[in-house]
Amino acid sequence: MSADPNCIFCKIVAGQIPSRKAYEDEDIFAFHDIHPWAPVHVLIIPKRHIASMADVTEAEAALLGKMTALGTKLMKELGVTNGFRHVINTGADGGQEVYHLHLHVMGGPRPWLKG
Ligand code: 5GP
Ligand code: ZN
Repeated sequence: MSADPNCIFCKIVAGQIPSRKAYEDEDIFAFHDIHPWAPVHVLIIPKRHIASMADVTEAEAALLGKMTALGTKLMKELGVTNGFRHVINTGADGGQEVYHLHLHVMGGPRPWLKG
């Protein structure tokens, strides 16, 4: 499926829902999470609608690699210097809320974790 008319992230890719864009190319779109869990929190998604990691095949291996590497590049560009996290939630027990595959990349100080 190329775009799902009921999917909010497909609507973000199409510009039908506004977002704070961090990156775009022919395959990938990246934008800032609306409810960040860290000072810098971007979501990196394939433009094509893939519901979740449970739907990813070997054919998408290069795409996943490109998304992962982009996360690292964006953290540097956005001034994150002291480490970051790549996270993908999958399915109900994995805490997935939006069923369009997305890689969370989060960085910046998390003072609430310090004792
Ligand atoms: P999940 O729990 O599915 O891994 O994460 C979904 C993420 O999408 C959440 O962190 C949530 O804040 C973010 N999100 C949901 N709707 C929107 C939206 O309309 N715009 C943006 N920028 N982020 C969204
Ligand atoms: Zn979608």
